[in-house]
Amino acid sequence: MLTARPFVEDCIDEGFALAGVTPCAPPPRAELLRAWLAEGLAGSMQWMHRNIELREDPTGLLPGAASIICVADRYEPPELSGGQIAAYAKGRDYHRVMKRRLHRLCDAWQKQYPQASFRACVDSAPIMERAHAEAAGLGRIGKHTLLIEQGIGSWLLLGEVLTTLEIAPTPSSEDDPCGTCTRCIDACPTDAIRPWEVDARRCIAALTIECREVIPADFHEGIGSWLFGCDVCQQVCPHNQPKERSKDLQIDSDYRPRLDALRLHEILVWTADDRLDRLQGTPMMRATLDMWRRNACVAAAEHGGDVELQRLIERIADSDDEPKMVREAARNTRIRLSEA
Ligand code: SF4
Ligand code: SF4
Repeated sequence: MLTARPFVEDCIDEGFALAGVTPCAPPPRAELLRAWLAEGLAGSMQWMHRNIELREDPTGLLPGAASIICVADRYEPPELSGGQIAAYAKGRDYHRVMKRRLHRLCDAWQKQYPQASFRACVDSAPIMERAHAEAAGLGRIGKHTLLIEQGIGSWLLLGEVLTTLEIAPTPSSEDDPCGTCTRCIDACPTDAIRPWEVDARRCIAALTIECREVIPADFHEGIGSWLFGCDVCQQVCPHNQPKERSKDLQIDSDYRPRLDALRLHEILVWTADDRLDRLQGTPMMRATLDMWRRNACVAAAEHGGDVELQRLIERIADSDDEPKMVREAARNTRIRLSEA
């Protein structure tokens, strides 16, 4: 069995904030996934139901896979990037940023171990990345279900390399990062969190990024001014308070915000090309034009005094040509503004 250290060092040299190794096997929390899906908590993320066996047991993702090398990048926390867009989404698309470096690592390891196989994954394979990262010792999963590294916090993006090499695992931590804390549960604007479980039917991140239809009106108030994702549960977490961060790690310049604030007026009249111009190369491209305009209609309810915005909402609400998800959001915002 190979020692983990050279692999971990290669990852750190490649600029990753954290790295570790775990056996390619079902992770400790694998059984929780089926219970979560059975309860219907995946909501609009129906793709989570696909490839469930692979998610539980990653050995099928690479013939002969024996180990997973887990890595994490750190991105700019919202106290630096601010706004109604989840902080991770404002920089360059992390899939590309991480994959490029993981492929470079795979190429180097392939030269060193010509008989071995490697597969780099960044959200591209059905794999329980947080659970594996936890098992590899990169941190512990908090009650909000995100990985927390004590000393860095949870502003982390995860990636993996599966390999047929047998590498000794790095130690995992037994520390409970939460104790009696319930700050994320109390602060969640849509009551989406139960300890170590997020209901994607209620979570603003899932509603604004994954839901491709009408967002139920019950959630509009909780969504507030969030346009793409939500950072609330991470913002309130004690591990993410600047004074608690004992490790001052460099953040890859690729994760610096790439655009100024988006104005709702602008989004509501976007064309497909406008969306592309503004968002290309960022994770924000995941939401379609209709989803962006729908989300902007919901957020417009926070701007009652803006006459120009109200006119746009009126026009959308009255137009039968608008997609249903956009029109319904505008109609509900009109009602909320009239009741304010
Ligand atoms: S991202 Fe926002 S809505 Fe989702 S669980 Fe966290 S606080 Fe709640
Ligand atoms: S806010 Fe508190 S309960 Fe939630 S993840 Fe952070 S430490 Fe855990």
